Amino acid sequence: MVIRSRFAPSPTGDLHLGSARTALFAYLYAKKHNGEYILRIEDTDKERSTDAAIEVIFDSLKWLGIESKVPAFYQTKRFDLYAHKIQELLENNSAYKCYCSKERLEKLRHDQLENKEKPKYDGHCRNLSQEDILEHKDKSYVIRFKNPLEGSVKFNDLVHGDIEFNNKELDDLIIARADSTPTYNFTVAVDDADMQITHVIRGDDHINNTPRQINILHALKAKIPYYAHMPMILGDDGKKLSKRHGAASVMSSREQGFLPEALLNALVRLGWSHGDEEIFSKEQMEELFDLDHTNKSAAILSTEKLLWLNHYYMKSLPFQKIEPEILYHLSKNNILIKQPFFPQLEELYNVQKEKCKTINEFINNSKYFFSEFIEYDQKSVEKFLTADNVNLLEEVISDIDNIDENQWNVDTINVIIKSIIKRNNLKFPNLAQPVRVCITGSTNSPSIDATIYLLGKNRVIKRIKDGIQIILGKN
Ligand code: GLU
Repeated sequence: MVIRSRFAPSPTGDLHLGSARTALFAYLYAKKHNGEYILRIEDTDKERSTDAAIEVIFDSLKWLGIESKVPAFYQTKRFDLYAHKIQELLENNSAYKCYCSKERLEKLRHDQLENKEKPKYDGHCRNLSQEDILEHKDKSYVIRFKNPLEGSVKFNDLVHGDIEFNNKELDDLIIARADSTPTYNFTVAVDDADMQITHVIRGDDHINNTPRQINILHALKAKIPYYAHMPMILGDDGKKLSKRHGAASVMSSREQGFLPEALLNALVRLGWSHGDEEIFSKEQMEELFDLDHTNKSAAILSTEKLLWLNHYYMKSLPFQKIEPEILYHLSKNNILIKQPFFPQLEELYNVQKEKCKTINEFINNSKYFFSEFIEYDQKSVEKFLTADNVNLLEEVISDIDNIDENQWNVDTINVIIKSIIKRNNLKFPNLAQPVRVCITGSTNSPSIDATIYLLGKNRVIKRIKDGIQIILGKN
């Protein structure tokens, strides 16, 4: 059997992390079994579906690296097939035209609620005679599926185990609206059958739809796929993950400076485990993923863990993997990186990465490298840019200026700094802090020699001169 899984998003907004996790599991399951993963855009709800949301789905999946080999399917391009299948169901007596007026349906619902019954279509048009049909012939109608009246639908969910629904609980659901457009549960069943989906992996908010879809599949004489309903994702506070939690969608996670590798790793652990391992590269996931080790209780996406994973990948991935994300964020921040004194991005990144958990943090902590203008932290200026440091700062300028162009490296700078300290009988911070405030604006920076090296001789000298001017201006 060729394994075929699908991800079937409705393009109505951002790609939520819960949906991305579903896509990932469907993708991994197919990959692991040398099967095929399909993307199906469920865009039949014309009012809620947008082109922008379709683009977000593609961008998000591409960014995460969850891509299918075959082009995506669009349900809106498959209306002929749905019409054909509706006809088939009408002909084999598995569906019927329902002429009930809105008023009748409203009254029915009202009476059922009054009698404390579950509101449900009463099958009024299920067995209309030919005469009744003739009488209604000019009226508009919907098409309903003839759900079995007896028995139950049982399926073995690969995450939740045995699930059973009594057919009495299920409605004769509408499969085509009055304007003849097909409805959700019907199109899903037709497509799962037509695309020969063997494994339906989706969120557990769809469990209630499954018996309806299974009944339709039976009526279509199609094979019933396996179902795996994944648990919901919660935020740190134990509530359903939503925009309130910050990174609730793939794109908002990217905006916050997370790497795709870290997000994928966090997602795969939401409901799946492999021993007590936490770190999984995409290749490892593809090799190890299975549905046997999925969990049916809700999974928590911990911000702390996501940050930990991101930091791990920031430190361990080769720079080529990180660079596109840095460039993306630099351009979002309108930072041009072709300035004359711009340090090598990779060298800068290597110096900063220990202390940054996100790409945003890297960029924020590196602003004084990217810009000719620095923001001074007033407290640091007060404390370290003082008159008794002027001579020292001038000495630093002169010694830095004397470094030969081809000697411009961290080691030389380190030796020079140490010799100034020794000469003046100082402690390291006595020199490092005033210099740091001059060249970065505050007392937070990587080691002083690396900072000087990365900024370049001209900028360092100019900034220390500016610092001296600040001191002189104070008095
Ligand atoms: N289109 C549905 C959704 O976005 C998913 C349908 C399915 O996976 O069966 O919720």
